[in-house]
Amino acid sequence: MIIKFTNYADGIHELDFHQKSAESGLSKMFFGDVDIYVRMDKSFHQIVLTITMDLHAKLQCDRCTKEYEEDINLEFSSIYLFEQNDRDDDTEVHFLDPDDDKIDLRPDVLDYAELSIPMKKLCDDDCKGICSGCGVDLNKYECNCGDEKINPVWAPLLKLKDKSDKK
Ligand SMILES: [Zn+2]
Ligand SMILES: [Zn+2]
Repeated sequence: MIIKFTNYADGIHELDFHQKSAESGLSKMFFGDVDIYVRMDKSFHQIVLTITMDLHAKLQCDRCTKEYEEDINLEFSSIYLFEQNDRDDDTEVHFLDPDDDKIDLRPDVLDYAELSIPMKKLCDDDCKGICSGCGVDLNKYECNCGDEKINPVWAPLLKLKDKSDKK
């Protein structure tokens, strides 16, 4: 994932990188191939990279604990400046030394890939999860727990619903 930018003239260039997840340094959640497409806009003062990645992750559902696969597509930009200036608080901006002739995409690729993992992992938006009463996977089985008692947490809401139904 190295771009030897001194090999390119000023202007727009398109580059591809293809790698196995296992060889890329990504965490074990990722599998299969990582496809990275880079649009490089090189000019006198800076290089702007727009990076698009296709990744495949194996995640565990928060509700039913089943493992499921998700395709992740993400895009980000990185700016590399040839001159040091005061914008070093911006994480998307990198600075190149006069001796540098390459950009290593790997640190940004790994960071953005890990950040792309959703906070809320669901095998399906409608996943019914696991019954807190008897532990069955409610996507596959029905259980009678819900019929026997109403979870006290929901009781006030049901009362509200009763009222609004009567209106
Ligand atoms: Zn699920
Ligand atoms: Zn149950």
